[in-house]
Amino acid sequence: MIAHADECRAHRPPVGDSVIDRVRDIAAAELRPLVGRIDEDGVYPLAILRSLGKAGAFAQHHEGRGESRPVDLGLAIRAMSVVAQECLSTAFCTWCQDAFGWYLQNTENAALRSKLQDGAASGAVLGGTGLSNPMKALSGIEALRLRARRVAGGFRVDGVLPWVSNIEDGHYFGVCFAADNDEGRWVAALARLGAEGVSGRQATKFIALDATATRAVTFDDAFISDDDILADPLAPFAARIRPGFILLQTGMAAGLIRDSAALMRALPERTRETNAHLPIGPNEIEDRLGALEETILALAATPHDDSRDFLEKVLRARLEGSRLSLDASQALMLHAGARAYISGSAYSRRLRESYFIAIVTPATKHLLKDLAAGAAG
Ligand SMILES: Cc1cc2nc3c(=O)[nH]c(=O)nc-3n(C[C@H](O)[C@H](O)[C@H](O)COP(=O)(O)OP(=O)(O)OC[C@H]3O[C@@H](n4cnc5c(N)ncnc54)[C@H](O)[C@@H]3O)c2cc1C
Repeated sequence: MIAHADECRAHRPPVGDSVIDRVRDIAAAELRPLVGRIDEDGVYPLAILRSLGKAGAFAQHHEGRGESRPVDLGLAIRAMSVVAQECLSTAFCTWCQDAFGWYLQNTENAALRSKLQDGAASGAVLGGTGLSNPMKALSGIEALRLRARRVAGGFRVDGVLPWVSNIEDGHYFGVCFAADNDEGRWVAALARLGAEGVSGRQATKFIALDATATRAVTFDDAFISDDDILADPLAPFAARIRPGFILLQTGMAAGLIRDSAALMRALPERTRETNAHLPIGPNEIEDRLGALEETILALAATPHDDSRDFLEKVLRARLEGSRLSLDASQALMLHAGARAYISGSAYSRRLRESYFIAIVTPATKHLLKDLAAGAAG
């Protein structure tokens, strides 16, 4: 009997791997055939996000909702990387959803958690994050864009966030505003697109990531209820979420890098023979990726380490993810040659996508600024 149970266990996927298998199946069967339309026509992959949610892709960093009962940020990152291997637009939407969920996982507002966390983890409730502006503001790069005044039961908010992704009407997103013109009092909350005074318009056409439901969001005397406050004041919450927020982004990098190496390996044999003379090839890319993934998973095991040394390691891992994405996609263009120059090729798509990893907040220049300032701890 015991032997039989052990045997059964041996045939089961190791704990933590079944979500990866399910995400891999969705990526191959549902996402791969749509990547061209997502990239070229800007088709928001809503149905795929719902499938990913059902498969558990957004649940792993929510306590008690993932495959391992505690928070497993590493598994969330690995699941995102499988999506990114096929399509960075969908992977970025995954990150937006994961960041939205991370705010709920970390808020002390228990009522907000019980209202939304199950939905965020399963993908039944979709969301994003407008926290690029406060992250840049905390690093002294730009001013906070949203202002609010205290009213009965909440705040009235004004201002514009130029880019918030993964939001259609009814979707939630994290925001931060300065209350009562008090620069010392920054508050984090969830807003909802389409609520009174919260309107969005398609920001612009992007060279990649155009399918990410990215909106310029205007707050016009918008009411944010006390019920939707994530943190007041922002600072301790920002410090608590920051490593996880940044580490999650490395899932986008890992998937794109892995696919770039795989695309180099899939080139015809004669092309590969000549490519052996190029300075960077798939072996080097995969070796660097392996080392990076090891670092990321080790860091992801303790996302609430609040030491300066830990934060610096997180920023460096994120920076290496950006650098390696650029190195890998550029090497891919050189390996693929003229076939990469044909409009609509996967090779040039990966190149366009890779730059997004390096410019989305925290952008390369932002990371370097924080590192120069001693991790802006
Ligand atoms: C496809 C896409 C999706 C994004 N999604 C999100 C998101 O979900 N949440 C989020 O918080 N941020 C999002 N961002 C913003 C992103 O994270 C960066 O903050 C942004 O790219 C600017 O960073 P930067 O380092 O280039 O800033 P900077 O170098 O400081 O500024 C970049 C330049 O952009 C200009 N600019 C500002 N607003 C606009 C505008 N509306 N149109 C044109 N130019 C403008 C600025 O004036 C400045 O010149 C997104 C950006 C892109 C391109």
